[in-house]
Amino acid sequence: MIAGPCSAESEEQVFGTARQLQGMGVDYFRAGLWKPRTTPGCFEGVGARAIPWMQRVKRELGMPICTEVAFKEHVEMCLEAGFDLLWIGARTTANPFLVQELADALKGSDVVVLVKNPINPDLQLWLGAVERLRRAGLEKVGVIHRGFSSYEKIRYRNAPGWQIALELRNRFPEIPFFSDPSHMAGNASLVKEAAQRSLALGIDGLMVECHCAPTEALSDAGQQLTPAELRQLLQSLSERNSESPDPAVREALEACRTELDALDDRIVELLADRMAISRRLGALKKDNNLAIIQADRWATVLDKVCTRARACNLREDFAKSVFSIIHDASIDEQN
Ligand code: PEP
Ligand code: MN
Repeated sequence: MIAGPCSAESEEQVFGTARQLQGMGVDYFRAGLWKPRTTPGCFEGVGARAIPWMQRVKRELGMPICTEVAFKEHVEMCLEAGFDLLWIGARTTANPFLVQELADALKGSDVVVLVKNPINPDLQLWLGAVERLRRAGLEKVGVIHRGFSSYEKIRYRNAPGWQIALELRNRFPEIPFFSDPSHMAGNASLVKEAAQRSLALGIDGLMVECHCAPTEALSDAGQQLTPAELRQLLQSLSERNSESPDPAVREALEACRTELDALDDRIVELLADRMAISRRLGALKKDNNLAIIQADRWATVLDKVCTRARACNLREDFAKSVFSIIHDASIDEQN
């Protein structure tokens, strides 16, 4: 469990928050010293000035401390100051130059390093960053899933894109996997839901933003919890087990999975059949000099699909997204 404010703002705010988190099962106290802000002129962190405040938390409250690093100078200062864990922020993971600079600066240290996913949903970029740190000989490398920027307006600040996170987990099953429901949700009222979902998917740990007075926070005010709210959240979260001890439950799970596998096979076969027809259609259009995209036809298809989805008790937005992908692929095949 990693918790603490988005940014270190003052010694009172850092120490006051940490004191309230003491004894709550928080393993690392976080606070951002250098803040990568989207808009210039926003609060960009107090920088190295907060190092003694963080050291005081470690010394007087016995809590391990962590912060975000983006340049080698940050790494050097933090290692010197005795930080226990460092993380690479989403905007930095997206930049291989910076990740390499950090990996070089971290070489030879045994600090824990967590890599947040890049802001764009690019698994390779995330994997690449982990790989750079591992090649630098770092042994305590983990990842933090904080969701992805999205152009579309969604309920969360960052789209969860769990599929990408789970793929990364499959590639590196042995490395600690954290979720950051605060940056994912972007709203204090949705943090619990995002945290619960993360746990249900089997993550190893959480990073949650927590501030002694969230409404006065200089960054991410809307998404930070008070220490009391965090306590409530931790009490209400139910962790799920990865396996059931009951053989009857295991058998029932297995039966569902067998059924699903068979259906998945059929779905793939149906998609292949659909694509074959699509290619035939494409050839007809080409031979007869007809436009590939006929907007009214697509609108009719979508309408039919949605009606059918409603009748089958399937979410309409889900059916729409699936068919948009199918339609895109089918247009790609026609030329
Ligand atoms: C943060 O943890 O405060 C932060 C800036 O996160 P991210 O890199 O996920 O945006
Ligand atoms: Mn933040």
